[in-house]
Amino acid sequence: MTTPTVTFLGGVREIGGNKILVEDGPDRILFDFGPSFSPRLEQFYVDFLQPRTASPVQDLLEFDLLPRIEGLYAREALTDSDIAYRAPEVHGVFISHAHADHAGYLKLIDPEIPVHVGPGTRRLLAAIDATSPSMKYGDHRWTTFEDRVPIRIGRLEVVPYPVDHSIPFAYGFLIRTSEGTIAYTGDFRQHGPRAADTHAFLEAAAAEKPVGLIIEGTRAGPDPRRDLSEGDVRGGVDRILEKSDSLAVACTYPRDVDRLRTLYEAARAAGRDLLVSPRTAYLFDQIAPLFPAGTVPTVGRTPGLSVYARKRRRTFRWEEPYLAEALGAEAVRARGRGCLLALDQMHFPELIDLRPPAGSPFIHSMSEPFSEDDVEDQVLHNWLEHFGLAFHQMHASGHASGPELLDIVRATGAARVYPIHTEHPEAFRKAGSAVRLPELGTAYPIERP
Ligand SMILES: [Zn+2]
Repeated sequence: MTTPTVTFLGGVREIGGNKILVEDGPDRILFDFGPSFSPRLEQFYVDFLQPRTASPVQDLLEFDLLPRIEGLYAREALTDSDIAYRAPEVHGVFISHAHADHAGYLKLIDPEIPVHVGPGTRRLLAAIDATSPSMKYGDHRWTTFEDRVPIRIGRLEVVPYPVDHSIPFAYGFLIRTSEGTIAYTGDFRQHGPRAADTHAFLEAAAAEKPVGLIIEGTRAGPDPRRDLSEGDVRGGVDRILEKSDSLAVACTYPRDVDRLRTLYEAARAAGRDLLVSPRTAYLFDQIAPLFPAGTVPTVGRTPGLSVYARKRRRTFRWEEPYLAEALGAEAVRARGRGCLLALDQMHFPELIDLRPPAGSPFIHSMSEPFSEDDVEDQVLHNWLEHFGLAFHQMHASGHASGPELLDIVRATGAARVYPIHTEHPEAFRKAGSAVRLPELGTAYPIERP
């Protein structure tokens, strides 16, 4: 009988781009399938320059930005590539959470291959697909799993455990093979509102005495950024709003529901309304039923949440229900200190109409830039300087800190540890001799040492 193996087809020495293949005899399953956020992809494809929709696999394979696997890709996606179409030879794809670096290449996968997601992730992916012209996931045989209920695929058994991350409905997995269990963390943190979920997953992983641990390491190695909890962010935003008597503007990741809720609660406590984009209002409507009643604010039902209507020539149909009562720039300017506006950086031209008084607060509630010569960061500061807005950095990471990661590796006690989703896998070496630095495309045996 052949030994089961795990192969890393992405996420090696890069943040994001996880693509993990687990094989046990004839049974093959994948965990996550997304593009990387790190420079490799961006050496060739950037905002304005993307693979052709007519031949996406060909255009990504040209630079080795996708794995060469047969029996995985959709026939249409393979147009003009040097991989021939074959009926599915991968028997399932599990998606840990709805961030692009884990799910963004799903559209390339054969629609006959079942895609396993949590019910919340299914809703998030559908909402993103419906509202964002550039993020499409394709048609699939979607299968929704339940927390901690095993899914059997041939010899393999997968148990999904909820974990806490900067998007709701994130999962880690225990993967039981014929030679023992490996645990895959997905992306996770221990300092957010669902920290107890993360702890329960890590305890369950340790209890199985796993032969392997696949752990994300976004914050492994040098990390000069401040380490706040979600509660710290709330306290910081409270203090900023307390001191300000003008319009306040905040910038978050679009699907960071915890942060948007924090901003909503801070705004309410300060006697302000939170103004969001139609896209955020739609997202809230889609996921609110999956949370305890009243947890996720929704437009028209929750007091103090309104939609900001940007200046545009045309709108989409899904936006229409939100636009009737939406506030435009003039109304927001008139309300001033009654509002906290969540504004994406790409919508900064709205500031030209909004014209917050000089000194008005701008809350950057996202990660600090990775490098000092970050172009987007420079542009952001040029705008803030132009309008004289006061910059405040206020963010809790979606990822566990470097020291936490080392503690987790030790506590899990896995025979082999594979750090992925990190630019500094070697930083894990401090956690002991079980750590292996994975190489792209190598099949590692899953076995008792
Ligand atoms: Zn990620």
